[in-house]
Amino acid sequence: MSAIADLSAAELEALRNEVRGKYEAFRARGLKLDMTRGKPAPEQLDLSNGMLALPGNADHFTESGEDARNYGGLQGLAEARALFLPVLGAPPDRIVVGNNSSLALMHDCIVWALLKGVPGSPRPWAKEQEIAFICPSPGYDRHFAICEEYGVRMLPAPMTGQGPDMDVVEALASDPAVKGMWCVPKYSNPTGEIYSDQTVRRLASMRAGAPDFRLFWDNAYAVHHLTERRHEILNILEECERAGNPDRAFVFASTSKITLAGAGVAFFASSAANVRWLLARAGKRTIGPDKLNQLRHVRFLRDEAGLYRHMDAHRALIAPKFAAVAEALDRHLARTGVARWTRPDGGYFISVDAAQGTAKRVVELAKEAGLALTPAGATWPHGQDPHDSTLRLAPTFPSLEEVRAASEGIALCILLAAIDKQCA
Ligand code: PLP
Repeated sequence: MSAIADLSAAELEALRNEVRGKYEAFRARGLKLDMTRGKPAPEQLDLSNGMLALPGNADHFTESGEDARNYGGLQGLAEARALFLPVLGAPPDRIVVGNNSSLALMHDCIVWALLKGVPGSPRPWAKEQEIAFICPSPGYDRHFAICEEYGVRMLPAPMTGQGPDMDVVEALASDPAVKGMWCVPKYSNPTGEIYSDQTVRRLASMRAGAPDFRLFWDNAYAVHHLTERRHEILNILEECERAGNPDRAFVFASTSKITLAGAGVAFFASSAANVRWLLARAGKRTIGPDKLNQLRHVRFLRDEAGLYRHMDAHRALIAPKFAAVAEALDRHLARTGVARWTRPDGGYFISVDAAQGTAKRVVELAKEAGLALTPAGATWPHGQDPHDSTLRLAPTFPSLEEVRAASEGIALCILLAAIDKQCA
């Protein structure tokens, strides 16, 4: 197919009729498909069924002889911290293991920063006239929802394919009102991009106007590869230390998309000062985390090799789904000039840039055809995509057959919306 912008009026009209016919045929199938849920499929959760019987009846003592059934152990088991050390890039004494949900840890860090400040804060963030966060966009909607909830102004920064545009980020960070920045440095949600070494170094070393500026380094997809290549990124904690900003990064991760999404363990890693700060706050909130779940994870995954074996099994289940989406988009949209889409080497999403001003229409067309897509704009601060172009596709949860059918429908909706706009 040739670029629709090059077609004559008659050719465009003919193509419109053809694509509308295909769309109507798709709609007539009366399917019910959902590509909105960035969560593991049941078969992925089944990979961890062995955990349900762990740590087992009489297995509740930790390596140091602690009884994991009891209160205490605020920082998390030493063996759990050691197991995830390669993922977090910090020595065990600078890792904290929490309960399920790293998002909860991020939320708590923001709330505690607002109420108490962080190491280096002249005053609690809530006592400042106004505070702002840099939000690489498109990004993770739940990060933006936390900012919205607590009145943190959001400053979008465009993505480049190698992380956020650092010229924009550096200019924004020089403002003392800017207290932090969201980063998903590997297989970013939703663009799948990986921060380059240069991006990581610039983030670690840039001048920040606020003395207590923090990178919220959400490494949610650290080991979630979709190809045999296990991409690595620079260690942000080491880079910050080297640049003379040792307290700059709060690192987060979890096993939500490794073991069980609703019953994983979450991690925080940072400088000694930040870890002391977090533990001082956390110690008021709880007498200790669920250490049996930590023990369960250690018994199940065992070591780094066990972790990678387990992630390979996830990859075998979900890589074909990502390939099915790419195949349908290629077949219907290649060379039409109406869309660009990502081919991520990891993570949970494919991001599509549809023709400007058509994303909302694509989502409407999809809905009319029984296909649920993430609302247009959801990946932008306040749900507002200035170009009305980004679509986030989440292929992990539906079955491969459903992903194939949905991708066909999505491609047709993207094409039809673009042709309709061109004709208007
Ligand atoms: N961070 C990112 C970038 C995510 O995409 C997600 C889930 O989709 C989360 C965090 C949620 O993590 P958790 O389950 O550990 O709260």
